[in-house]
This record gives sequence, C-alpha cells and structure tokens, in this order.
Amino acid sequence: MSNLQTPPALNSPNPLRFWDDAIGVLASELSPQQFKTWIQPLSLVSYDISEQSLIVGAPNRFKLDWIKKTFSDRFQEMADRYFGHPVVLSFILNVDGAATQTQGASVPREKFEPQAISISPDSTSTEEQAFEIEDHSKLNPNLTFETFVTGKANQLARAASIQVAHNPGTSYNPMFLYGGVGLGKTHLIHAIGNHLLKEKPNARIRYIHAEQYVSDVVRAYQQKAFDRFKRYYHSLDLLLIDDIQFFSGKSRTQEEFFYAFEALLSNKAQVIITSDTYPKEMAGIDDRLISRFDSGLTVAIEPPELEMRVAILMKKALSEGIPMSEDVAFFVAKHLRSNVRELEGALRKILAFVRFHGREVTIDVARIALKDLLSIQNRQISVENIQKAVADFYSIKVADMYSKKRPANIARPRQIAMFMAKELTQKSLPEIGELFGGRDHTTVLHAVRKIGDERSHDGQLNHEIHVIEQTLKS
Ligand code: ADP
Ligand code: MG
Repeated sequence: MSNLQTPPALNSPNPLRFWDDAIGVLASELSPQQFKTWIQPLSLVSYDISEQSLIVGAPNRFKLDWIKKTFSDRFQEMADRYFGHPVVLSFILNVDGAATQTQGASVPREKFEPQAISISPDSTSTEEQAFEIEDHSKLNPNLTFETFVTGKANQLARAASIQVAHNPGTSYNPMFLYGGVGLGKTHLIHAIGNHLLKEKPNARIRYIHAEQYVSDVVRAYQQKAFDRFKRYYHSLDLLLIDDIQFFSGKSRTQEEFFYAFEALLSNKAQVIITSDTYPKEMAGIDDRLISRFDSGLTVAIEPPELEMRVAILMKKALSEGIPMSEDVAFFVAKHLRSNVRELEGALRKILAFVRFHGREVTIDVARIALKDLLSIQNRQISVENIQKAVADFYSIKVADMYSKKRPANIARPRQIAMFMAKELTQKSLPEIGELFGGRDHTTVLHAVRKIGDERSHDGQLNHEIHVIEQTLKS
C-alpha cells in the first residue's frame, strides 16, 4: 500500500500524470470511435523512474500489435517531450488490465486531493495485526496559505482560518467551513494544519476525511479496539475533519465523533470541520451534533469571482514554469466559472497541450486544448439569454432590458443583467451597452461595479444571481 503522505508537487513530472495527459491529448486528436477502440483499453502497467522506462499494457494480442504499429511513435514522442529526455517505452500484453507500479515509486492517482489512509486496510486481519492508527498528521505540505489565492469569495474564510491557525482552541471552536465542491475547503484546512505544525512541531495534528473516519469506526468496532481509537482521537491538539456530510445516517460514527468532539473541546483542542452545506441544512446528522457544529464559528466559502479565477490561473501556471498572460487567463476564466478544481483541470489540459505540441500559451491554444470543456460550458450564454433569464426571474418584460424606462423595479434587474453579461460573456462594455438599447459604456460600467459590490455583502442578491446563472447553464 502506498503511503500517500506527500502528493507530488503540481509541477514535478510523474508517470501517472504523463499517462493521464497523454491519454487526454489522444482523446482530443482521435475520433471518439478510434479512441475508444485503441487507446482507452491501454493501461500504464509499470514504470521505473530511475531507469526511465514505462511499460504500457494492451488487453489482447491484436490490439497490442496494432498499437505498436500505429501509435508507438506518437506515445514515444509524447513521453520524450514530457520527461524532457528519451524514455524507454515498451508495450506488452496485459490481459487483466490491472496497472501496477514498480520500484516503490508510488504516485497517487488523485493528484490534488490529499488522501487519508490511516489504518492498514487488511480486512483479513489476525490478532497480531490489531487495529493500528498511523500516527501521521496526513497534512499535504503543498496546501498552505501562501499557495491560496484570495478574493472576495474566500476572504472571510481565509481570515477566520488564519485566526484559528494563530490561536487554536481559543476563539473559534469549532470552526465550521462550508461551501460547494472544489472551492478550497480542503486546501484551507490543510493550510491551518501546516501553519500550526510549523509553529509547534510537536503539536498532535490530524487531518482526516470523514469517510475515512467512518471506516476507522467500523474497523475499531470489528476489532473491539475502541479504547485505542478513543485514546488517539481524544488526545489530539488539532483535528481537521473534512466533508462531514459523509456522516449522514451513520449513527455509530456520529456517536463516537460526538464523544471525541466533547473531549477535544474540553481539552481546549481545536476542531475544524468542513461540509458542503451549513450545519442546520445537514441531513441525517444528529441534532446534538448539529448544535455543537453551530456553536463556534461558521464561515462560507463562495465560488470564485472572475478576477480571482484569473489570478488563480496565472499563479498556478507560473508555478508550473509556464507563464500565462492575462488575456489568456481571462479567456479561460470567463468560460470556466464553477470552481477552482475545474480551473486546475483546464490548466492541466492547456499545459499538456503546450508541452506536447511545443506551443506558446495563447488564446487559440487554450481554445483548442479546452475544446471539449468549452463546448459543454459554452452552451451559448449570450447577452440575449441573460436578458431573458433575468427578466423572467424578476417578472419584467424582456423589452424593458433595452427600454429607456427607469423605475427601480426595472432599472435594477437591468443592472443585474449588465453585470451578468460582463461576467458571463466575452462582450466588451460598449458592446453590452449597445445590446441594452444603445446605452453608454459608462452606464454599463456603473452597473457592473454597483452590482459586483452589492453582491459581495448582500447574501440575497448573491443567491439570486446564482439561481439565474444556474438556469442559464442548465
Ligand atoms: P474543496 O475541498 O472545497 O472541494 P479543494 O480544497 O480540494 O476544494 O480545492 C480544489 C483544488 O483547487 C485544490 O487543488 C486546491 O488547491 C485548489 N484551490 C482551491 N481554492 C484555491 C485558491 N483560493 N487558491 C489556490 N488554489 C485553490
Ligand atoms: Mg475537499
């Protein structure tokens, strides 16, 4: 089993990432039929970083021969380019298709999500292999405050996290961080852990995903090892528990966690919890836990706004050694709006494309590399669609979007529509003004600023915009 303490830095070349990228590039070059027939059945059977060799398996003799004949040059070229030196690439028959690794070169498949594997998962355990808890923090050292880009969407969450990192167990306990997928919750709580670890190297810190905690409870139960389990969890200085919505319906886990939680709080140990919703909205969770969760500080993390998405792209591209200009970053950020994980995926595609084809990062390159993503995302969000969606939402006529009327019940939705047009389309301010009945670009700018500003402190408005955006995307 691999011990996934330290996922590799985003920029270190590694065979599994090479493999994923190469497959991605071929997917964009071949027809879906070709891809499905020849490439998809292949697997990376093994690799050896020191010998600089990679072995690719094909599921039967026929495919093996065909791959060797038709695609081996392409794979070779991609590998040499990716690793920056010649690589020994071989193809073998691999009937069961299971990818294995050699030389202990364990590289996690999940690149960005730190894994929490805490207990030797041997279900055929004998008495000697009794319940074991690995005494590691499970922190991913790459997820720090320094690598976390801040914007309106996450500044509150970040500020609270910094507070807690500086004064654990005192002011905000527990801290409950909630928000949608890929918005940086896991990143932030690792950052807290890493910060504390730096300040107090002896602190007992543990990051754990709630799903892992559930299996810990199950295993402790099977092996009648609750004493060890309790001793361990009750003795921590900082417990970071991620995605607690996974506790839903698991009453034994919730009960154990309740005791751990009470013990930790009475020891003045810090507890930090993340979830996809805020405490009162959580389903299948015991009321007494919910009220505990709600008793400290609850902070939300919102989807990143345009400028933040741009900053994230530029920062991450730079850390990969391939700088991205602001106009390319704007282009990508305008098309991909939902979350940071999606942005990272897009960036990886662009960088793979650039590396494999030896091109510069331009808007055209981004457009080609993200062809698939953009065609889904882009299901034509036009200014007209926005005007219609906003008018429907606020029950006004679409014609009022370009009329000269100015009563507030019309003017405000119109401003919201202008704001959304700027956020969601590639149109310039004058172009947007034109589409809103020939208004001046300064009128549009005023609306964009006003709504953008209000949105950041008006939860209701923010919610309305989210809802309209959802209808546009669906
Ligand atoms: P969540 O736990 O909310 O689903 P993650 O923390 O796993 O999201 O974030 C998804 C990815 O995006 C991670 O690779 C993370 O490092 C990155 N990420 C999220 N927010 C930011 C940010 N503000 N700055 C830099 N990277 C971020
Ligand atoms: Mg997470």
